[in-house]
Amino acid sequence: MRLLIMGPPGAGKGTQAAAVAAHFGVPAISTGDIFRANVGQGTPLGIEAKRYMDAGEYVPDEVTNNMVRSRIAESDAGQGFLLDGYPRTLAQVTELDAMIEETGHKLDAVLVLTVDQEALLGRLLKRAEIEGRPDDTEDVIRRRLEVYAEETEPLISVYDGRGLVVAVDGMGEIADVQQRIFDALDTVAQS
Ligand code: ADP
Repeated sequence: MRLLIMGPPGAGKGTQAAAVAAHFGVPAISTGDIFRANVGQGTPLGIEAKRYMDAGEYVPDEVTNNMVRSRIAESDAGQGFLLDGYPRTLAQVTELDAMIEETGHKLDAVLVLTVDQEALLGRLLKRAEIEGRPDDTEDVIRRRLEVYAEETEPLISVYDGRGLVVAVDGMGEIADVQQRIFDALDTVAQS
C-alpha cells in the first residue's frame, strides 16, 4: 500500500499515521518528524529547516523533495509507505508522482482527516503545553493554519480528481477515528 495522510495541522495525522501504517505493515514517514530529528541533531538539513519551521513556513520544496526521495528508496519502504506531511505543495505532488512512477508503482489512496476548524487551534494550543514544540506558539500556529489553507488544502481536489481521496471524520476519540479509518481503508485495500 502506498498511502498519504492529509489534513490541517492539529487534525491528528501523526497519531493516526502510526496505527494505519502498522495495520498495513508499511513504515509511517513523517516529514515533520524527520525535520525535527535533524534539528535535534544539528545536521545541515536541520539547521536549514529550522529557520522555516520556527516561523510556521514550509521548508523549500527542493530540500523536502530530496529528503523524501531518499527516504522512500530505503528498503523498508519497498512494499509501500504511508506519507504524513508530504506532499504539501503542488510542486511536491508532481515530484512524488515522478518518484512513484519511477519504481513502477502507484498511489493507492489519500486519506483525508476532516476536522472542525474551531477545534484545531484548541488542539494545537493544548499540544503546545504538553510537547513544547517551538512552532506551537499561538502566532506560529495561526500562520501554519493559513499556509495549510493556501498551499496544501488545494491538493485535496487534485487527488479527488484522480478518485483517490478517502475522507474520514477526524473528530472524537482517537480509537473511534482509528476504527473509521480502518473501515474506510480496508474497503480500498480489497478493491
Ligand atoms: P503539522 O503539525 O503542522 O502538520 P508537521 O510536524 O507535519 O506539522 O511539520 C512541521 C513543520 O515541518 C512544517 O510547519 C514545515 O515547516 C515543515 N514541513 C513538514 N513537511 C513539509 C513539507 N512537505 N514541505 C515543506 N515543509 C514541511
